[in-house]
Amino acid sequence: MTERRKSRQVKIGPLTLGGDAPVRIQSMTTTHTRDVDATVKQINELAEVGCEMVRVACPTEEDARALGKIKKRISVPLIADIHFNYKYALIALDEGVDKLRLNPGNIGSRDRVEEVVKKAKARGGSVPIRIGVNGGSLEKDLMEKYGPTPQAIVESALRHIRILEELDFSDIIVSLKASDVSTMIESYRLAAKAFDYPLHLGVTEAGTLLRGSVYNAIGVGSLLYDGIGDTVRISLTAESVEEVKVAKFILEAVGLRKFGPRVIACPSCGRAEVDVFKLAGEVETRAMKLKDPMTISVLGCVVNGPGEAHESDFGITGGKDKGMIYRDGKQERVVSEEKLVDELFKDIKKAKKNNQTPDTRNQSPVT
Ligand code: SF4
Repeated sequence: MTERRKSRQVKIGPLTLGGDAPVRIQSMTTTHTRDVDATVKQINELAEVGCEMVRVACPTEEDARALGKIKKRISVPLIADIHFNYKYALIALDEGVDKLRLNPGNIGSRDRVEEVVKKAKARGGSVPIRIGVNGGSLEKDLMEKYGPTPQAIVESALRHIRILEELDFSDIIVSLKASDVSTMIESYRLAAKAFDYPLHLGVTEAGTLLRGSVYNAIGVGSLLYDGIGDTVRISLTAESVEEVKVAKFILEAVGLRKFGPRVIACPSCGRAEVDVFKLAGEVETRAMKLKDPMTISVLGCVVNGPGEAHESDFGITGGKDKGMIYRDGKQERVVSEEKLVDELFKDIKKAKKNNQTPDTRNQSPVT
C-alpha cells in the first residue's frame, strides 16, 4: 500500500478530517429534512452502525430551518447539502451545521459567495465547505473543450476552489465524482497532484446494493490503496445504513481501519453437511454488533476448517448436522448445528467478560 497523500486537515464540528486523521465514513439521509423526527431517527441509525458524519438535503427553506432542531438530537456532525440557493446556506449556518456542501460557482454572483464565506468564517473556527464536482453536470465550455473527462472534472473543481481561495477561505474539501469508475479514479489521481485539500471519495450513482458495492470497492478501494482519500461516501440505491457497512468493509479490506470482528467464511460446496450460508449470515449479523477487533471463521467442513480456525480467534467447522467450536485455533467442543452460533457467541461473550478478547489481525493499523 502506498503512503497516504498528505492533505490539509479541516475540522467538522469536533471531528478532524484530512491530514493524519482516519479516513472518515459519511452517508446521506433519504428523508425529507423538514421531517425532523424521521431525519433524526435515520441519522441516529447511521451513527449506530458507524457513520461519522451525515449529510442532509436542503432543497427548501423549511428543510434548512429544520437543521437546528435536528442538530440538538444527534451526536454526529451535520452537513447541509445546498445546491443553488445561497440563502439556504446562510440559514444552515445560523442553524449550526458543521459543514456545507456547496459549489461556489453555482450560487450566482460573487457577493453571494462572499456572504456565505463570511458567515462560515465567523462561526468560531470556520465551517468547511465541500466542493462537489459531478462528471454528469460539468460546465458547458469544459464539456466542449474536453468532454466528460478527468481533465474537465478537475478543471471544474479548480474553478470553484479559486473562488473560495480569492476570498481567503481554505477550509475546503473536494469530491470529483463520476459514475464511470475509471473516470472517477483518474480524476482523483489528477486532483491529488493538483492541490492538497482533503478528498471525499465516491462513485456517484453507483447503483443497487451489489453492483454499487462492487463498483465502489474498485473505485474507492483502488484510490485508498494508492494513499488517496480522506473521507468516503459509498453511494448506493439501498438503505443508507448499507452504505456505511460497505464503507467499513472497504476500509478494512485496504487495511486502513478496523471496526470490530472480521468474519471469514467459506463459499460452501458439496462436501458441506451444514447450512454454511445460514451459519455465516447469522454470525455476520451478530458480529456486526460487536466493537472489538477479532477474527471469526465459519467453514463448512474439515478440509479448510481447522486451518482457518488456527488463524482465527474463534471458529466454527461443520460436520454432519453438527460442528466443532474452536478458540484460538484449538478444538473446544462439538455442538449440534442449531446451537452452533449461540455457543460461539457465548464463548465470545465469556472471553470479553474475562478481558480475553484477542485480535489476530495484527497486520493493519487500528485507527
Ligand atoms: S471448507 Fe469444506 S465446505 Fe467449505 S468450501 Fe471448503 S471444502 Fe467446501
